[in-house]
Amino acid sequence: MLRQYELVDRVLNYDPDADEALLNRAYVFSMQAHGSQKRASGDPYFSHPIEVAGILTDLQLDDETIATAILHDTIEDTVATPEQIEKSFGPSVARLVDGVTKLSKIEAQTENERAAENLRKFLLAMSSDIRVLLVKLADRLHNMRTLHHIASEQKRRRIARETMDIYAPLAERIGMYEFMREMQTLAFQQLEPDAYTSITKRLHQLHEGGGDIISRISSGLRLQLSRAGVKAEIQGREKHPYSIWRKMAERHISFEQLSDVMAFRVIVKDIDECYKTLGVLHRRWPMVPGRFKDYISTPKRNGYRSLHTSIIHSEKMRIEVQVRTEEMHAQAEYGLAAHWAYKQGDKSASKASSHSWIRDLVDILEHAGNPEELLEHTKMAMYQDRIFAFSPTGELIQLPKGSTAIDFAYAVHTDVGDTTVGAKVNGRVVPLRTPIENGDQVQILRSKAQEPQVEWLTFAFTGKARSSIRRFVRQKEREETIALGRKFYDEIIKRIPAELGKEALPEALKRLKLPDEEALMEAIARKLVDDATVMDALMPGSAEKAGVKRREGAQRDAISMKGLTPGVAFQLASCCNPVPGDRIIGVRRPDEPVEVHTIDCRKLAESQDADWVDLAWGDGSDGGTARLTVIVKNEPGALAVMSGILGAHHANIVNLSLSHRDTAFHTYDVTIEVHDVQHLMKIVAALRAADAVSQAERTPAG
Ligand code: MN
Repeated sequence: MLRQYELVDRVLNYDPDADEALLNRAYVFSMQAHGSQKRASGDPYFSHPIEVAGILTDLQLDDETIATAILHDTIEDTVATPEQIEKSFGPSVARLVDGVTKLSKIEAQTENERAAENLRKFLLAMSSDIRVLLVKLADRLHNMRTLHHIASEQKRRRIARETMDIYAPLAERIGMYEFMREMQTLAFQQLEPDAYTSITKRLHQLHEGGGDIISRISSGLRLQLSRAGVKAEIQGREKHPYSIWRKMAERHISFEQLSDVMAFRVIVKDIDECYKTLGVLHRRWPMVPGRFKDYISTPKRNGYRSLHTSIIHSEKMRIEVQVRTEEMHAQAEYGLAAHWAYKQGDKSASKASSHSWIRDLVDILEHAGNPEELLEHTKMAMYQDRIFAFSPTGELIQLPKGSTAIDFAYAVHTDVGDTTVGAKVNGRVVPLRTPIENGDQVQILRSKAQEPQVEWLTFAFTGKARSSIRRFVRQKEREETIALGRKFYDEIIKRIPAELGKEALPEALKRLKLPDEEALMEAIARKLVDDATVMDALMPGSAEKAGVKRREGAQRDAISMKGLTPGVAFQLASCCNPVPGDRIIGVRRPDEPVEVHTIDCRKLAESQDADWVDLAWGDGSDGGTARLTVIVKNEPGALAVMSGILGAHHANIVNLSLSHRDTAFHTYDVTIEVHDVQHLMKIVAALRAADAVSQAERTPAG
């Protein structure tokens, strides 16, 4: 374990301005807080935070981060309070410790919640202070190093899985490749013990077969390069078992087929030498096609630069070679810390102030775009379509990406959704259509008087919200239709010449085979039954007594056609619904009634094979059915206004159906009985004049 003075010296070594007293206080505080607690290894617990701090000194982190590392488990695992931390170490350290504590709490949660929870907390941590994440990564690395002390296999596997899926990719993304590799190796050992053992065994055999292959190949490379006048440092290594295993899995090949288990790095002084080295290698050994990558001219998006190639070194031995400068190498190994150190070096300024490279890192992370972008190409991708937001009480709500405040409300509870009047996101009132972002705190403002609005459907994203809103809107519409039906019903019974008994309505329902009164009212409103039928159902024979005719065929008698032999059967085409006054054409086929179309009906074009008869309406022609397309505003009572206009013009509604609905408007398909075109035009004009009606027109023929 690192001693107090060793740790402080390390920090002072790279940052002479570090707050020595702060570090000393943290050390003592943590040691006292953890007291006699022990790790699974039997070591004093206190050794863990100190090792974590030690790992972070390698990254030359600032004094606050080091103090945070030393204190990172005190809130969670000891009696120390956030207040004490703040009092002794200031608000900044207190905030960082709190951040790490939150991350650690997740590890105590149930398996299911955890992955998502982790992600959310990470995203939050990253957006607020990247140092929280760095401490957490170092914490995880140390826990992985000591994982074998944990007795429960299940627990070891869980921790390893999490490391593999979440922490290693994060380490990779911020350029901490050493962290990543070590985490992967340790996790792989837990998760695939057989594969790990077999691969390490094979690697051993490889050594035994050929002596120290790595140093032989290294010497060969060095010799070739020095002949060409290139001074280079050469590092050879075996790929670590996990990356070998991943290659085997990805390419579906066996260990034997996997020839490039060794990787070499050639580190040279500048970019010219990089390309010169590449030329030397490719002239001496054949390159493996498809494996050459120039990340110097086109760096990876995390800033990584190197030349990658694979060469066929001997019959059975391909090797991978990375060529880079010293600066590129440091950056590749130690991430953005190194990048910053080199920049400072150029300015020949003072010792690295680690604050600055953190700022640099934060800057890069911020400008890299969003956390999703940051996490791309990692296992985290599977969470990318999820958003994690909080309620004011800290409850975590998961939503699909694209969700808005109204989705959040319905995700909390259907009742909450139904009564939503507004939302506050992160304390600010926003429109309900506002997309929710990761980590947002969302407060739903409610009113008992509120009910779901149909326009919510334009921005509700989740199935739950949409179906809840639709269900409500449908119910609302049905209520409106039923109310309209009741008005019609009241008119109908007025025409029955006798008083109706109590049993009349229940009897009528039976006769009409309708389940209840509401179903009847709906049927009346939608003109599924005509007035005469309703009257007869209520009191058999009453329709005829009152002189109310059945709808079918009622108008036929009144129509005659000039141009037709009297007595020849005709039929008004249902495609164009001609009404008296329309210019019409008859289509005659053998043994069929003459079909009467309006002159502009598109169906006529399809009837070239038939005889066309020039027709005109008879003098006494009266009545036809016409189809209208009426668009009404989506507001209460609009349907009643439309029905009222039709009623006032004595246009019997034959059919009424809702053909389209959006936020603002409802489109109805209405079939009415009219006397003639003039009658129809008056009705259309009256509809157009109404406030509640946005558009009204005769439905085009065909
Ligand atoms: Mn810890």
